[in-house]
Amino acid sequence: MFKKITDTLFFLNTEGQDHYRVLRRNIIVIMLLITMLPLVTMVVINSFQYRSHLRNQIIEPLYAMADKTKHSFELFLDQRLAIIRFISTTYNFKDLTSEQNIKKILISLKKECCGFVDIGLINGQGELISYAGPYSLLGKNYSEQISFQETQIKGQYISNVFLGFRKYPHIVIAVQHLTEDGQTWILRATIDTDFFNTLISSMGFSRQTDAFLISKDGTLQTNSLYYGKTLEKCPLELAKITSRSNAFEGIDNKNRKIIIASSTFSIADYILVIVQPQSVALKSWYALKTEMAIIFLTSLALIVFAILKMTSVLIKRIKTSDEHRENVLTELQHAQKLSSIGRLAAGVAHEINNPLAIINEKAGLMGDLIEFSKDFDKKAKFINLTNAILNSIDRCRKITHRLLGFSKRIDVKIEPIHINQIIHEVLDFIEKDILYRKIDIKLILSDSLIPIESDHGQIQQIFLNLLTNASAALEDFGQIEIETKNINNDSISVRISDNGCGIPEDIIENIFDPFFSTKKEKGTGLGLSISYGILKKLGGKISVDSKPGKGATFIVMLPQKPDELEVLNG
Ligand code: ADP
Repeated sequence: MFKKITDTLFFLNTEGQDHYRVLRRNIIVIMLLITMLPLVTMVVINSFQYRSHLRNQIIEPLYAMADKTKHSFELFLDQRLAIIRFISTTYNFKDLTSEQNIKKILISLKKECCGFVDIGLINGQGELISYAGPYSLLGKNYSEQISFQETQIKGQYISNVFLGFRKYPHIVIAVQHLTEDGQTWILRATIDTDFFNTLISSMGFSRQTDAFLISKDGTLQTNSLYYGKTLEKCPLELAKITSRSNAFEGIDNKNRKIIIASSTFSIADYILVIVQPQSVALKSWYALKTEMAIIFLTSLALIVFAILKMTSVLIKRIKTSDEHRENVLTELQHAQKLSSIGRLAAGVAHEINNPLAIINEKAGLMGDLIEFSKDFDKKAKFINLTNAILNSIDRCRKITHRLLGFSKRIDVKIEPIHINQIIHEVLDFIEKDILYRKIDIKLILSDSLIPIESDHGQIQQIFLNLLTNASAALEDFGQIEIETKNINNDSISVRISDNGCGIPEDIIENIFDPFFSTKKEKGTGLGLSISYGILKKLGGKISVDSKPGKGATFIVMLPQKPDELEVLNG
């Protein structure tokens, strides 16, 4: 199944160059998927786990802190309520109406217990009948105030912060007392709310942490760092804060991400709120997140780089091996073609040689007979005819000889050879023709050619074929350029270029085929195929480049030493 999938993925559109592009893209996509998927999954899971772990580590303590602070406040208020209750039971109505007594009580209250501002006695009709404190409130009627009504209903009362008659933020602690004769009176003390702020600052919160009290209707009972002063409306969303004691993440009115912890009072209508900006609370999380992002992005870049690099190396190798395979296949086909044609040629040549020998013998005899007959009036004409037969037989012989040479396994003699010297020898063979046709030979022969070993005679034959072809392609006054040089210090290249007629594009693929010739009866079409066969045996190569009308260039490559196996297999 997997193989099928990969086959479809990799070998879609296998035709042409597109194949490599598709292959490259598919390898990249698959490798990216295989490597990235586990990495991304791991990062996502880790970040979720770590975040929730960290959340618990931060939010839970914040909530615990809110609860603890609330308890301190409750203790503070509870103590003050207990003292007022104690006074109301210790003193009777009459004692408390005495100005002297009530002043004494306030003095001892202030001495023993901080926060008290004043104390007063209110009768059943809500009238303040006895008072000790800095304000002149005596005679004021409180019957319309919530504090009076609530105390009458519940027996005791702790108010929210309010301004009251004195126009200064304070809270009221009031306790109702019932006399034996059925009368009720209320002992009422006020507490300075500045003391609340002092209490909060004494809790030791960090600088960015805002802790404050709000009433259930959202009025600030103490100053807040970010959300206003006492008695202003708190701009935070109250629904969640007031619903129950909890801790959660949210966004404030200034669009800051915050963590809120709240704890509701049981003895008063207050909620203690602690607000911490997430940038502070989750500082370590953000640092870790940045680190994780850097590590993730770096590994991502490394993975992508490695995949791209590996893929291009892989594709390059596949491409080279494909090309190599194609070349080997073409060469093999060519070699097979050569060998079968060779065998056929050898048979034909052999069969033709015998009748040729007979024709040659009979034609020679005929010539001799004609020559020595005295009374034959057409003697001269017949002698010419027999000579023509003998010449044609000679040409046929040469062809059959070459054919046999082409097919025969010619013994190779490997010895040190000097390419430059061979070139000079071959040029000597064709010197006459060159001089006669005024062909310019330009030699660019390297003096520092590496010593190589090969078959002197056969290399001579190759260069003879190539130079004969070049000269045949040239007009008079044409030019042949011969260059020798080392290649990578392990082989030699010989370039033979001419500025002759060149090779038409449509036949360039066939010029190494046996019997392919454009020279009609002047050529046999064996020169290049024989050269090709020799070079193959000697471990060399031949290539051609030509621009029709501008000339042709043949490059012969010869190794330092032929491979023994290739020489043996021919
Ligand atoms: P032949 O020379 O007997 O024709 P070859 O095998 O040597 O056989 O050459 C095959 C053919 O290749 C030639 O007939 C010619 O068309 C072409 N050819 C070879 N060398 C050259 C060259 N230098 N310039 C132009 N054509 C060439």
